[in-house]
Amino acid sequence: MRNVLFVISGPSGVGKGTLVKLLLQERKDLSLSISCTTRAPREGEVHGREYFFLSREEFLARRESGDFLEWDEHFGNFYGTPKSFVSEQLKQKSVVLEIDVVGGLNAKASFAGSVPVVLIMVAPPDPKTLEARLAGRCSEDEAARKARLARTQFELDKAREYDYTIVNGDLEETKQRLFDIIDQEINKE
Ligand code: 5GP
Repeated sequence: MRNVLFVISGPSGVGKGTLVKLLLQERKDLSLSISCTTRAPREGEVHGREYFFLSREEFLARRESGDFLEWDEHFGNFYGTPKSFVSEQLKQKSVVLEIDVVGGLNAKASFAGSVPVVLIMVAPPDPKTLEARLAGRCSEDEAARKARLARTQFELDKAREYDYTIVNGDLEETKQRLFDIIDQEINKE
């Protein structure tokens, strides 16, 4: 058994949030890292649960003091992974990060050699399905939705640098595949 940092990435609307939620409900041996962001909360999102919602000033101050393992800007907002939380959790159990591809590759580089980092990409079955899911979510206006869709190809191209890609067609099957990967990686010597 080993403690692993699992990074789960994928285009907006691909269903990674749902998968991560299921993962944490069913696996008490995993802990979720909660990122900080300057974007406004969506309906139903709670400070300290989905994200720590910070003002730009607060985020920049924390970035200055080296609080983030990695950070990036998406669609005009900052996102960052708190370093101390991840390092502390990793002493006890495996940790899941739900972040974008650039963040995932940066996190892997930051921990290189000291902690096993496994990068998992969740891909849509096809672009139309993704578009429909994003439209169904109704949480973004048209321009924001277009920007998110435009980034999809970039995210999927980066999958080549990831350790695993799983296609989210049937949720139950995808979840099982994810659990199998996690078990396999945790149980590696
Ligand atoms: P959303 O606004 O839809 O919650 O997230 C937008 C993008 O930011 C997604 O691709 C998500 O994976 C990414 N993201 C969330 N948290 C972090 C983080 O801590 N670091 C980085 N680099 N990206 C993040």
